[in-house]
Amino acid sequence: MRGMKTCCIKVARVNPDKDAIARAAMVLCRGGLVAFPTETVYGLGAAAANTRAVARIFAVKGRPPDNPLIMHISSRSQLRALVKDITVEAELLMDNFWPGPLTIILPAAAGVPDIVTGGLTTVAVRMPDHPVALALIEAAGVPVAAPSANLSGQPSPTQAAHVLQDFDGRIEAILDGGPTGVGVESTVLDLTTQAPTVLRPGGITLEELSGCLGGVHINIADGAAKYAHYAPHAPLCLVSGSGPAVASKIRQLAEAEKRNGRRVGILTYADSEDFSSAGEVVFVGCKGSPETVAAGLYSALRRFNELAVDIILVEGLEEKGIGLTVMNRLKKAAGGRLIQV
Ligand code: AMP
Ligand code: MG
Repeated sequence: MRGMKTCCIKVARVNPDKDAIARAAMVLCRGGLVAFPTETVYGLGAAAANTRAVARIFAVKGRPPDNPLIMHISSRSQLRALVKDITVEAELLMDNFWPGPLTIILPAAAGVPDIVTGGLTTVAVRMPDHPVALALIEAAGVPVAAPSANLSGQPSPTQAAHVLQDFDGRIEAILDGGPTGVGVESTVLDLTTQAPTVLRPGGITLEELSGCLGGVHINIADGAAKYAHYAPHAPLCLVSGSGPAVASKIRQLAEAEKRNGRRVGILTYADSEDFSSAGEVVFVGCKGSPETVAAGLYSALRRFNELAVDIILVEGLEEKGIGLTVMNRLKKAAGGRLIQV
């Protein structure tokens, strides 16, 4: 399906050029696909009501049709046409966290296409906190259905270059607004269950949600996932625990792999031990500040594809705050390869 020219439109993050935004919005309105930056990761957008355009999102990503998309809106007035009713809880959450990395799930209005919801009776909606995303949706004048702009299963894109790695020649346009901020996807919160239930941890922490709602249920899949996700080409092994035993285990595993003639990659942090003698080291943030790890995580995972390592060893983080989100992504990338010391 390669062959079309992907138009790369550079825009400033703040006060993006109106003509650039108008060009991208026009592509959406004519049924094209536009990748755009949000505060979490780059999204691959289509006008949500255009079922043919939405079908192309699934096709180019190789996304299973039963994995629903998130509707992106730029104003609360767009919500009315998408959901059956807006609960008091939903209002409270939107007041506190929108625009921002929180996706809420509500009963879908009759007009929401099945292809967006994966045939469910519910719909996921969020208002992104990024001037380029908001300007694009506003200019298009319609909700934009958008999953992350990566091939299904790959690490999500946090830079325009990542989007081009996966989709150059396969989508109409990309708005390049520089690197994203948060670096991991939105938190998905289901408001159609008895109690609000977190289905995916993300940029808004469980602590923040609990503080707002007085508690949330959690139903997070991070073990044997239904779909492979966030995974670089080489198998990834996540080593978690506390104290110096973690680093020793990583060194021991690295030695064993090297004896078998394999190229070892190690994902580590600026405030961690020096693993440079044990393998190809890629640094991502500081483990004492999980926000910095989240911001660089996917870029670091993609870096291992370039280094062409055979195995990637990763030191786990404390599952607190956004560290929980980072660990969820690492566990999914690891599949079953988890080692607890
Ligand atoms: P992505 O756009 O790739 O970040 O993925 C969107 C996420 O939202 C996936 O984990 C979906 O399963 C989830 N999602 C979207 N719509 C719904 C829905 N109606 N019910 C439950 N989960 C949803
Ligand atoms: Mg995704």
